[in-house]
Formats: sequence, structure tokens, C-alpha cells
Amino acid sequence: MKRVSIFGATGSIGQNTIDLIARAPEDYHVVALSGGRNVAQLSEDARNLRAEVAVTAYADCLDDLRVALAGSGIEVAAGEAALIEAAARPADWVMSAIVGAAGLAPGLMALQQGATLALANKESMVCAGPLMMATAKAHGGTILPVDSEHSAVFQALVGERMEDVERIILTASGGAFRDWPMEQLAQATPEQAATHPNWDMGQRITIDSASMFNKALELIETREFFQIDPAKIEAVVHPESLIHALVGFRDGALMAHVGPSDMRHAIGYALHHPERRDLPVERLDLVKIGALTFRAPDELRWPALRLAREVMQAGGLCGAVFNAAKEVAMDAFIDRRIGFLQMAQVVEEVLSRLSAHPGNLDAAISLDNVRHADHLARETADDYITNG
Ligand code: NDP
Ligand code: MG
Repeated sequence: MKRVSIFGATGSIGQNTIDLIARAPEDYHVVALSGGRNVAQLSEDARNLRAEVAVTAYADCLDDLRVALAGSGIEVAAGEAALIEAAARPADWVMSAIVGAAGLAPGLMALQQGATLALANKESMVCAGPLMMATAKAHGGTILPVDSEHSAVFQALVGERMEDVERIILTASGGAFRDWPMEQLAQATPEQAATHPNWDMGQRITIDSASMFNKALELIETREFFQIDPAKIEAVVHPESLIHALVGFRDGALMAHVGPSDMRHAIGYALHHPERRDLPVERLDLVKIGALTFRAPDELRWPALRLAREVMQAGGLCGAVFNAAKEVAMDAFIDRRIGFLQMAQVVEEVLSRLSAHPGNLDAAISLDNVRHADHLARETADDYITNG
């Protein structure tokens, strides 16, 4: 029996993970499930999967969770410290699917107790890639990518040597506004940005897809995860979203990973690794699909891609600043305090203000320093949004 924990269990990735686990309950012992405000979902899943503990990220949700799980024998807890404690409970496999920088500390703790970490939370890699990799190494933990592009690259690299890799190409659907005229983008609403042409995902990552901040995070995630020179990482717009990524080798070969837009593939690959098992995903009919198309990404339309290159160049704590500023900018966009195009302006301004003070961004990448950089970036972003 595999002992599993799922952080961010109530979200889109979390629910897809539960779908796979619930199909073979005899194979798993569920240690911890975590959620945020969706207490009804968290308690229902905790009961169905007979979890040891259910944790909500928010102290003000604890009473509701306690009531919902009364008599079940399932422990309940709330808050950030409780999340970290739950991640310290011995488990063989831990899904990291909290959204945002909040996913970092529980993921690190799971690695510290030697678990295999299935990493959907790309923000961990963007904020603290070197720390994640070093923690895994020091404690014998393994990180398996769940982001579909990175899972695709990981699969294409099985049996290959990194020194033979010439380039890694991530595909991007282009999101909700791929074909919108540039002039209309300034007026785009959060509701419009939260609609994705191909993937069904959480609200925040869907908005990040429209702005390409998602692809920007993924470029940085690629650099950190595969320890590859940023100059070898490319992004290409691929509207059909069927090729998830390609790896180019020194002999000119390109290995493409092709599959349906269903996260249960990447989650299932990480769950069963190093084996492959049957997964309930659609089998592609290539003749029906007919054609796959590609376009160059326009960095004027999607400035996030240019910013990601600058962040990879600068290194240090720039990733943490980039991510935190982006999270604040997205909150402001969702609250209609800024327009769609201003999200990138906020991030660029915060990076430029903070890098003007040496010492802000070149400290070692420890959890404390990442938290400090994250905090500074949030304050700076708030200040810029409020006062200009
Ligand atoms: P969702 O928004 O659907 O779910 C997020 C989860 O995190 C929920 O369980 C939510 O709880 C919880 N949560 C929210 N805020 C906090 C917080 N401050 N502290 C602790 N928990 C919190 O997100 P997704 O499932 O879409 O994405 C999860 C991660 O996976 C992200 O990092 C995303 O980039 C990545 N990812 C997602 C993909 C997808 O297809 N969805 C694809 C590739 C990567 P609640 O809802 O109960 O409030
Ligand atoms: Mg992805």
C-alpha cells in the first residue's frame, strides 16, 4: 500500500489526483488531505478516502471542518503551521497542488521526510528551485514533475544524457486572448481571461495562461528542474495543445510528447513512476485531428516571456520576486483595480525597483530569504498599484 498525501486536494489538480486514487482505493493509504475554503469538498474526500488528517489553510474554516468531520475519527487542523506538520507525516508520495507561493513550505517538508514529491506547484521551483533540488538531494527525496510540459520533457529524457540535449521546447496554447486584436487586450475582463480554449484548470492558472505568465513560470521551472542553460529553452504557440513539449538532441532528433489535454496523464505518470499503468484518458485519433500547428510567440503581446528571460538571467531571489509580484498583480486584476495589460507592468516595475537595491535579491536561496523577498515584492507591488 502506498501512503499518499495531497496538498491542495480541493483544487483542480487535487481533484484529478483523487479521481485516480479513488479508482483503486485498495492500493493507497491516505495520510493527509489539505484544502482552503472549500470545506465541504475537503471533508467529503477525507471521509471517502479515510484520511488520517484533514487540514484547511485558514484558521477561520477550522470550526466548519470540525463539524463536517465530527464522529469520523479523522483529525482536523488549520493554518500554515498545520500544513507543514501534515507534510512531515511519513508518506511515500505527496502531491504538491496548492496554488501559489503558499505551496513551497509544505513541499519542502515533504522532501525533508524523504517522500517522492509530485510537483504541480510550479511556483516552488520558480521561487526556490535550488533549495527544492538541494533538499531532495540531501534527504533522498525525489521530485517528479506534474506540470504537463515538464512531465512531457521528463518522459522524453528517459534513457537520455542531459549533455546530448540541444534544446527544450515548451508549447503554449496562447490562452483566451491568443487571437484578440492587441487594442482589445487592455479591456479584457477577469471572466474572459479565466476561460481556456483547451484545458480545464483552476482560475489563477487559467488567467496566467492568457497573459503567458504561466509559460513564463514554466520557462523558469524548466531551467531549475532540468538544470539547463536558459538559452536552450524555447516556447512555441501550439493552439491544439496536443504536443506538450519537445526535446531536441544534438543529432537533430526532436522527441515530442503527444497526448490529450487531461492532467490525469501527468498526475498518473508521477503516481505510478517508474511504472506505467492504465489511465482513464482519451486515446487520440490522429486522423480526426488532422493537423498540428505552431506559431512564434509574440513578446509584445506577452511581455511575461521577456520578463522570464530577465529573471533567469539575473537568478538569485528574482524568481521569488517575480512570482510574488505576479500574484499581487493578478489579485488586483481579479478585483478590477488594474487592467489585463498592467499585470506585466506591475511585475516589471517591482523587479526594477527591488533590483535597484543590491542585497535585496542576491542573498542565498533559503526559505527565510525567499519569504523575505516574497514579502518585499508584495509590499512593493501593492504600493505601485495603489500609489503609482
Ligand atoms: P486551484 O485553484 O484549482 O486549487 C488550489 C488549491 O490550493 C485548492 O485546494 C485551494 O483550496 C488551495 N489553496 C488556495 N490558496 C491556498 C493557500 N493560501 N494556502 C494553502 N492552500 C491554498 O489550482 P490548480 O489545481 O489549478 O493548481 C494548483 C497548482 O498546480 C498551481 O501551482 C498550478 O500552477 C499548478 N498546475 C495546475 C494545472 C491544472 O491543470 N490545473 C496544470 C499544471 C500545473 P480551496 O479551493 O479549498 O480554497
Ligand atoms: Mg503547464
